[in-house]
Amino acid sequence: MKYNRMEKFPHLKIKFDHPQAIQDLSTVMADLQKILGKEAVSSDDIDKIAYGKDYWLISNQMTLNGKIPAYPDIIVWPKTPEHISQILLLANKHSPPIPVIPFGEGSGVVGGALPIKGGIMVDMKYFDHIEVSNINMTATIGAGVNGKTLERYMQQHGLRMGHIPQSLHTSTMGGYVAHRAAGQFSGKYGKIEDMVKSLEVVLPSGDIMKSKYYPRASVGPMVDRIFLGSEGTLGIVTEVTCRIWPIPEKQAGSSFVFATLQECLDAIRITLQANINPAVIRIYDKAETQRHFGATEKKSKDKLMVIFVFEGITKLVELEMAITAENCLKHHGIACGSGPVDHWFKTRFNVKESSDFGPYGLVFDTIEVAIPWDQADHLYESVTKEIMKVPGALMATGHASHFYPTGVCFYFTFSAVPKQGQDYLEIYDQCWDAAVRGTLKLGGAAAHHHGMGLNRTRWMALEHGTEFDLMRKIKQLLDPNNIMNPGKLFSENDTGVGENYLTQRKELT
Ligand SMILES: Cc1cc2nc3c(=O)[nH]c(=O)nc-3n(C[C@H](O)[C@H](O)[C@H](O)COP(=O)(O)OP(=O)(O)OC[C@H]3O[C@@H](n4cnc5c(N)ncnc54)[C@H](O)[C@@H]3O)c2cc1C
Repeated sequence: MKYNRMEKFPHLKIKFDHPQAIQDLSTVMADLQKILGKEAVSSDDIDKIAYGKDYWLISNQMTLNGKIPAYPDIIVWPKTPEHISQILLLANKHSPPIPVIPFGEGSGVVGGALPIKGGIMVDMKYFDHIEVSNINMTATIGAGVNGKTLERYMQQHGLRMGHIPQSLHTSTMGGYVAHRAAGQFSGKYGKIEDMVKSLEVVLPSGDIMKSKYYPRASVGPMVDRIFLGSEGTLGIVTEVTCRIWPIPEKQAGSSFVFATLQECLDAIRITLQANINPAVIRIYDKAETQRHFGATEKKSKDKLMVIFVFEGITKLVELEMAITAENCLKHHGIACGSGPVDHWFKTRFNVKESSDFGPYGLVFDTIEVAIPWDQADHLYESVTKEIMKVPGALMATGHASHFYPTGVCFYFTFSAVPKQGQDYLEIYDQCWDAAVRGTLKLGGAAAHHHGMGLNRTRWMALEHGTEFDLMRKIKQLLDPNNIMNPGKLFSENDTGVGENYLTQRKELT
């Protein structure tokens, strides 16, 4: 007799009334079992629930309300690119074609992995190999390798890749590539696109594409780059080769408080434009400074805290620290030593607000965007003000966490409470709209590292302009049956500005 794991959870009285994308489920199950073996294919309710959510606030809120955000018909656990190739051939050949959604660890915060049209969920966890070349300083990494497992492996071998997102413990290499992720130490080691040197991808047609690793070349267009940021819509990434580094000889931190945001921005801009590269830089606005450092650093009262972490060989660290300090002092920064940096190290993986406030029906979310330097101060002021104009908004604060010689990433945190009888999604969308439209108007990017997912697909056309046409053609060419993660990046109902987005999403609730 088959063991029914749902019996273990009698309190989950979930009714599966969602129409199935696959009508002849048992035939497709049998075909998949022939490819993968029985143990690697499931249509059990408990698995459908587990793979029907990610870390998007709306997804969490629905789960809290006993609803399933979306769910796949079948979940599979392939082990080789050839397995995935056969799954995709089967999905394309089926009438109607079956949606296929790659799944890392479901830590995405914009609904990217939600199987909103049902279909086959492809969990990548068995792509778990890591091979290192100490001479080339590269690592070839399976797409399902967890971030923390990777970093631990590197450390054990005296190495580091340097990609440390806040979701390190709950995310995978494939997810990083798919979202064009950015880690906390990005100032020194770069973002994921700086680290990735080559890729293996199974295309929607079932063909396996492997780009060649080289230090650099001039051999025609870099086609493999289109999979960076493709969010599971153009193929399934199975393996990635990345550059790696030795563990740094020295790590040191410094911090400064400033009276104004413009002074913080100027001090950091001139530092980066002199090609000085602290591994970590963070500016906290006055409210976030109080929230994070108010209790431990007296000098932070009514000020903005800026922290720096430097890494590398000792002489370089000392020089970079000294030049950075000069620039901060020149812009009226007041030195606070390494205490605030130690505090940041202790608390940098703490994320609990959205789970604390969610059960009370409060909206509590974050929005990260990028902006050139000349609009940075203006962007912060206008986005926080516009969010606060939304009726029901309780707070809008921000910090800046990734920096470039050409601009900066702002990371806004906002909270709001729906009015009596108001839909949670309505106020949520109003806050998002205020931030994203405000950013686009100033020439910024609608997302810096969380990706577009389901939540931001409505801004794709506005974000990309003429480039979006080419993107759509590439999608059509690679995936004519639109089997890959449908509804993400390229929505069928996309009007370019997302008017019908809310209605679409209401169907989910
Ligand atoms: C608390 C928290 C903190 C975070 N901090 C950061 C941060 O500091 N920096 C940052 O960049 N992001 C951060 N994120 C969000 C970030 O997008 C994800 O953590 C991560 O990149 C997604 O990885 P995942 O393996 O969980 O992917 P999933 O959530 O499973 O999937 C995300 C998307 O990638 C696609 N995908 C997954 N694997 C593959 C594959 N092998 N091939 C093709 N497509 C694939 C999915 O279809 C989906 O569209 C944070 C999230 C949380 C919850």
